[in-house]
Amino acid sequence: MKESIDIDSKMLWERAKSIYLSTLQSEQEKEQVERYLSMITAVTCSDNHFVILTSNAYAADFLKTGYSGKFKSCLDLAGGDSNLTLEFMYDETVKRPSIVIPSRSSPMASSSQRRMSAFSSTMPLNEEYTFDEFVRGPSNSWALAAAQGVVANPGKSGYNPLFIHGGTGLGKTHLMQAIGNELRRKNPEMAICYLTAETFLNEYVNALKNSQIESFRNRYRTIDMLMVDDVQFLQKGKQFQEEFFNTFNALQQAHKQIVMTSDVAPKNLPSIEERLISRFEGGMVQEIESPNYETRLAILKKKSEGMTPEIPDNALEYIADSIKSHVRAMEGALRKVGIFRAMDPTAKLTNEMLSRLLSDFIEKEKNLRKLTIEEIQQTVAKKYSVEVSQILSEERTQSLVTPRQLAMYIARKFSMKGLKEIASQFKKTHSTVIHGVKNIEKMLDVDEELKSNLEEILAEFGYRLSDKF
Ligand code: ADP
Ligand code: MG
Repeated sequence: MKESIDIDSKMLWERAKSIYLSTLQSEQEKEQVERYLSMITAVTCSDNHFVILTSNAYAADFLKTGYSGKFKSCLDLAGGDSNLTLEFMYDETVKRPSIVIPSRSSPMASSSQRRMSAFSSTMPLNEEYTFDEFVRGPSNSWALAAAQGVVANPGKSGYNPLFIHGGTGLGKTHLMQAIGNELRRKNPEMAICYLTAETFLNEYVNALKNSQIESFRNRYRTIDMLMVDDVQFLQKGKQFQEEFFNTFNALQQAHKQIVMTSDVAPKNLPSIEERLISRFEGGMVQEIESPNYETRLAILKKKSEGMTPEIPDNALEYIADSIKSHVRAMEGALRKVGIFRAMDPTAKLTNEMLSRLLSDFIEKEKNLRKLTIEEIQQTVAKKYSVEVSQILSEERTQSLVTPRQLAMYIARKFSMKGLKEIASQFKKTHSTVIHGVKNIEKMLDVDEELKSNLEEILAEFGYRLSDKF
């Protein structure tokens, strides 16, 4: 990351950032925001004008549209001048961190440089996501071994592609980026491209708009490794899937490594064509599951290394014991304990104190385990004045489709049940459930009535929409 030239604004920004992150409840939002925050390359401030520079134009846009106001309030809270104005800008001078720009000026280096400099929105790798920082446990040991296999022999057929799937916040992105970081360390000449499926699609759409398909194609076919995160967000778009399919084949034929992650197994990807799915399954598919107590504790120990003041063992044990579902939620709890310790380093962290401090996390966790699919179906049916049996039926009138899909959405986002169980309790296939969930997600953006119905139903369970995964 490029150093800020202005230390004071950097400190102010760091403080504002941690205040903001500590206010986020939804794991999904936290992940998204952190991803974009990692693209900030520098901050500067002069004459009360605070400028945030990002490594790509997309991130500047995203942060500006969604977060200007929030960041402004946090800068206020962090001690910034209340008249501060805020601007987000794409820093065109920055070398993109995940694009390998070799230091030696060998002919090889310059060709690699040429190849990589053509990228416009390759996303940076988080340097903290390394194998060293990844804690091994029974829930992830196969996926970890496969990732290490890729590092030992990138492009080798048994591991190509590598497809890692599992629930949110269980370490998929971490593991994928660890492959990238390690390979880059071992071989700085390797042209590595990491991006989310969403960004990939955006790139494609832009290329289409600007009649630059040829260069888009060439760009992706000349790299050494392609890592696509969250492929469940690949939309059903015949043209793009065709392009992806061809890119995929070209890379594979050239023995270039492909790594993908998703929250479901390839066969359960909702809108992906059959032939792509069979390609995804053609290498190695590994699942990451929820970690057990020992692994959770080991992860917390790792994450708390270097925190000052130190977090006592009993607090780590308390978190590992009470937050079981998501590593990311554990990290949130740890951060909260950290802030508390920093404010009062001498206070003793008794279990009672911890239970009060972490009550929101613990409450959420308890509710998660309590919520059953039947309960969700009954509550939704009541709200929409239909019968549960109608929700479970095959009838496709809109007055049934909406409550059916809404119930699926709630089950998927707010219960601890896996896709398999949800599908079976709705008497539907996996892909019907995923399609339903996606449909509700889309509708929630535009349909205020649906949103308020959902909020009302969630309130009955003691939830808000922002609590979702
Ligand atoms: P996913 O992509 O599966 O949603 P992430 O890779 O973003 O999850 O992981 C969420 C957080 O949990 C990250 O901060 C990551 O470092 C941490 N994490 C998950 N699993 C592990 C693990 N086994 N060891 C260390 N950290 C982990
Ligand atoms: Mg991820």
